[in-house]
Amino acid sequence: MAGTPVYHRGPEFPALLRNAVEGVQEVFPTAYDVFLLSCSGTGVMEAAVANTLCAGDRALVVQAGQFGARWTDLCMAYGVEVVESEFPWGEAVDPQVVAAALRDDPGLRVVFATHSETSTGVLHDIASIGEIVRGTGALLVVDGVSSVAAHPLPLEAWNVDLAVTASQKGLMLPPGMGIAAVGPRVWKAHLRCRLPKYYWDLERYRTSQEQGRAPATLPVTLLAGLRAALQMLRVEGIRNVWARHARHALAVRQSAAALGLTCFARRPSNALTAIVLPESVDGLALTDYMRRECGVVVGGGLGDYRGRMVRISNLGHVDDAGILEAVGAFEAGLRKAGWGFEVGAGIEAAQCALTAES
Ligand SMILES: *Cc1c(COP(=O)(O)O)cnc(C)c1O
Repeated sequence: MAGTPVYHRGPEFPALLRNAVEGVQEVFPTAYDVFLLSCSGTGVMEAAVANTLCAGDRALVVQAGQFGARWTDLCMAYGVEVVESEFPWGEAVDPQVVAAALRDDPGLRVVFATHSETSTGVLHDIASIGEIVRGTGALLVVDGVSSVAAHPLPLEAWNVDLAVTASQKGLMLPPGMGIAAVGPRVWKAHLRCRLPKYYWDLERYRTSQEQGRAPATLPVTLLAGLRAALQMLRVEGIRNVWARHARHALAVRQSAAALGLTCFARRPSNALTAIVLPESVDGLALTDYMRRECGVVVGGGLGDYRGRMVRISNLGHVDDAGILEAVGAFEAGLRKAGWGFEVGAGIEAAQCALTAES
């Protein structure tokens, strides 16, 4: 990334773009069209709305957290009528509720869902939701921003029509690039879709990409980084990458249990672990201590859970040492906050989980 930026109209660009598209296809995995956009995850979520619907259409948003709710906000900003199926934070969406909603209202054109809900650490059951949406007239659009590379998101097998991710999560890059994987049924919907768009019009990306180009300048520095990140993922092997995320997330969950704490997610994601703090522990002081004194940055609780939760991520470029460091810092912070447990209980659980024969 520190090298001279590649000229986006120059001769090296088509190969750089092709490498990125093919690599991202392997990571999902999917054979759908993949487009890279200059934006964060929310921008490409907006593109998903703008390319599938008309004003006045009805869409179903199934959600149980802050990122799921973003689909509702985006739809409303475009005048799409939202039917919301909302579950409490920490719970997973019940696919049967999706089935009932689609039965009650056959006019629903798109179902919006979240794979890994980063605000709660829940992994939603996209395979089952996809099975339900299959055979209805609706499209299924999935936010895979924090799941891609941590979990497989096989779009064709799960009947997902459009999925989005972003550079700064499992792809290990700085922020700035949104990614959309787009299936054939979306192109059909695009023909009748009348929502206003120009920069977000995926048809323009499709046309340009046939010539190895993009309709506007892409962040070529991030593309250079993506080339390196995809090479790292290829060397490790994507199945091993998924297995590593599973192993690391399990180690964090088992450490939390050994410290006498509960994991918030009913159906946990392997990208991060949300841990509920005891009433007596000030979560803001705890995360501040971890960051300032241990150099370990973790997420806090969002929304109503501010100060009452920590979210420890193992997404992306993480090794066993990183997990032990995070668990050790968490444990030290809990002791400082006066929470009682046997010294080393969390670290011991993490070491056992990390070294267990699979
Ligand atoms: C990070 C994230 C996003 C995108 O956020 P941006 O700040 O716009 O990149 C969307 N959904 C989920 C689940 C996320 O974790």
